[in-house]
Amino acid sequence: MKNVVLLGSTGSIGTSTLKVVEDLPDRLRLVGLAAGANVDLLVQQAIRHQPTLVSISDPSKRDSLQLRVPKQTRVACSDAGLIELATLPEADIVLIAIVGTAGLAPALAALRAGKDIAIASKEILVMAGEIVMSEARQCGRRVLAVDSEHSAIFQSLDGKPSASIRTLWLTASGGPFRDATQWPKERMSTIGLEQALKHPSWTMGRKITIDSSTLFNKGLEMIEARWLFDVEMARVQVVVHPQSVIHSMVEYVDGSIIAQLSTPDMCLPIQYALTYPERVASDRVQTNFARIGCLQFEEPDQDRFPALSLARRAGEVGGTLPAVLNAANEVAVERFCRRELSYTGISETVRQVMDSHDTVLNPSLEEIVEADRWARFAAA
Ligand code: NDP
Repeated sequence: MKNVVLLGSTGSIGTSTLKVVEDLPDRLRLVGLAAGANVDLLVQQAIRHQPTLVSISDPSKRDSLQLRVPKQTRVACSDAGLIELATLPEADIVLIAIVGTAGLAPALAALRAGKDIAIASKEILVMAGEIVMSEARQCGRRVLAVDSEHSAIFQSLDGKPSASIRTLWLTASGGPFRDATQWPKERMSTIGLEQALKHPSWTMGRKITIDSSTLFNKGLEMIEARWLFDVEMARVQVVVHPQSVIHSMVEYVDGSIIAQLSTPDMCLPIQYALTYPERVASDRVQTNFARIGCLQFEEPDQDRFPALSLARRAGEVGGTLPAVLNAANEVAVERFCRRELSYTGISETVRQVMDSHDTVLNPSLEEIVEADRWARFAAA
């Protein structure tokens, strides 16, 4: 039995993780849950799974939560609650699925407390990939990928060293604006929130759905892959694959390419991360190639989607620049959602903030956090 702590239990990844745990009651048990503000759903989850500890980000909701959860479940709140969950003595693995950077401190705390971590929140590795991976090495713990692309690479690599990789190929659906005839560059500034929230292959939280449409999501994933698999940015490439059936591929130095495929369903990479190194039977995901028919591939359009070159630049320069890219994008997406910024204004804001940043190389965690704060202010 593996004891699981889940940070971000009320979100898209969080609720898929609950399905996986409910599919495998003999193997997985939820011992801790954290949410941002959705008390009602957190209470339902706590009643169903009877965890040791739950935490809510908003401290004003702590008392009402305490009255509604099972008697034996303790209640915590704020950032301290996330740390308490991440270091819960009975936890074996901590799955982090909080939007943004609030998962970074709990990730480090979990590793130091001897837990494996499963990371959905790619922002953590984008900001502080070097620090997180070196902490994991020092603590002898695993950092498991939940993102479908990185899970695919992890499965395709199967323990082979970085020196055996020629290229990591991240697949991208291309998002709702892939078609250049329908969405020529000059029309893209007119794209509205409702249009950007319609993803062709995946149902996800709001921030990542917008990021998938701008390809910032793929840019963040390039940097995430660089750290998870210890390769420089030049060996991380993106290919557009609209069917989202190949989740990513490893091209080896001898020219062989190994890919992982399935119909898109986040339950699959979540289950693999939680049950690793075992493969556990599940009927949830079925793939019918005859029905899929064909698999297509295209070059990404770097001109209409500047996010890719901005992310490559941030990943190549390194230091505090990836944290700046991530924070500026987060703020720009919020401003787009509030209809304060045009769609193309998102990448333009990120570019301007990156251009005006004095990058600190080999930064400490404090310098990364400071760069994040600076970029949020600059992008607002
Ligand atoms: P959602 O917006 O659906 O969910 C976010 C979750 O985080 C919610 O449970 C929210 O609680 C909780 N939360 C937010 N802030 C805090 C906080 N300070 N403390 C505790 N909990 C908090 O996002 P997704 O599930 O889509 O994405 C989560 C992460 O996973 C992101 O980093 C995303 O990039 C990544 N990811 C997502 C994929 C997907 O398919 N959705 C695929 C791969 C990666 P509440 O609901 O109560 O506000």
